[in-house]
Amino acid sequence: MGKAYALLLLELVVYAAGMLLLFRARARFGLGLFFTALGSLHFLETYLAANLYVQLADGFVLSPGSVILFSGKLLFVLLVYVREDAQVAHQPIYGLLAGNLLTALLVLLVAQHVPAPIPGGAPADQRLLDQMGLLMIWGSVLLFIDCLLVIVVYEALVRVPRLPLELRLWIAAASVLVFDQAGFFAALHVFYGVPIEAGYAGLAGKVVASALYAFMIGVYLRRFDTPADLHEGHREPSLGVLFGTLTYRQRYEALRQATRRDAVTRLLNRGEFDTLSRELLEHATRQRQPLSLMLFDIDRFKSINDLHGHQTGDRVLRDVAAVLGESVRTTDHAFRFGGDELAVILPGVSHDGALAFAERLRREVRTLTIGDTDVVVTVSIGVASVRAGQSHGGIAELVRVADAMLYQSKADGRDRVSGEVLRDV
Ligand code: GH3
Ligand code: MG
Repeated sequence: MGKAYALLLLELVVYAAGMLLLFRARARFGLGLFFTALGSLHFLETYLAANLYVQLADGFVLSPGSVILFSGKLLFVLLVYVREDAQVAHQPIYGLLAGNLLTALLVLLVAQHVPAPIPGGAPADQRLLDQMGLLMIWGSVLLFIDCLLVIVVYEALVRVPRLPLELRLWIAAASVLVFDQAGFFAALHVFYGVPIEAGYAGLAGKVVASALYAFMIGVYLRRFDTPADLHEGHREPSLGVLFGTLTYRQRYEALRQATRRDAVTRLLNRGEFDTLSRELLEHATRQRQPLSLMLFDIDRFKSINDLHGHQTGDRVLRDVAAVLGESVRTTDHAFRFGGDELAVILPGVSHDGALAFAERLRREVRTLTIGDTDVVVTVSIGVASVRAGQSHGGIAELVRVADAMLYQSKADGRDRVSGEVLRDV
């Protein structure tokens, strides 16, 4: 009996190690290897589930086909989802369904043959064909639901704080295996009179097997398949990154957040300005609220670069950006408009309010000390505003006026604030 346990464990480890190796190889060969192996092992699973059961204890009989191979398959589909994305995970899910239905159809045709004795004299054995009929179609539909369900449950568990990856994988897989076992044995019970109790051993086996798979996949993901690209950049360390379990959607979101910001100042970039400014202005107009735009340009920035080097220049940009970033409220938005120009949009802030705020920022920038240099940084500021309920020429007009005001500040001797309210149109 100890040998049966050892064999099952060995089968599980060999299956998992082989599949994880193929999954790891996707960087070189693509996922085709992994998917093909997953599909080809499906045959062995079906065959074993129908033909080989082993006894572990009195009345405790289970099949390596369903306990080892079926549980593993479910977790490997989940692995694809965790490391790739939902769309890639759909490939084996739909592929298995299509392949199984095609198999069932071909079995229907093949079963029409009158079998001749097998060359060598053995009698034809039709048992497997008999078992691949309706039950296989039901099993395939169940498997399809299982695969989608395991992803949904896993996604729900991602929201549970401090749940280790292994536990998340296990709970998702085990709960779906319970669902599957109930569904499959319900059919066996109704159509073939198989007692419900006959499914208990298999269920217990699957729950244990899925725990071992979850553990192995967890170790694999942490040690051999960490998304190194996610550790770069200025991302806040999140639980997801620490456990290396970001799904495609989360990775997409992280990447989107990163690309919204300028690398030097960490302020929102010009692309964000173009979309956000329009939205904010439209919103303010609808709500009959005022809105102000401030444009900042660092004075004689070129000579700072020339005299103290580009690194000091960058440092100045970063420090000025930090002054803006720290001073604005959560409803305000600070951007790197381009070059040494920064912008702040102040929704709900009137022209007078914006002028006072700009003046405060101008003074604050003057007090900056840049490392151990004697650089005195000043900014020229242009402010443009729309009044509450004012009809105006849109964001282009607002930018044009702010830019003209900035130019005015430069022309008047720099280190100052100029402003204008947009004309009613
Ligand atoms: P003004 O007072 O008229 O604005 O003079 P200025 O020297 O600041 O002139 P301008 O605004 O035209 O010069 C902008 C300079 O900013 C030119 C460019 O070399 C420099 N610059 C643009 N982007 C960066 C950056 O990311 N880092 C650094 N160090 N310099 C930059
Ligand atoms: Mg400048």
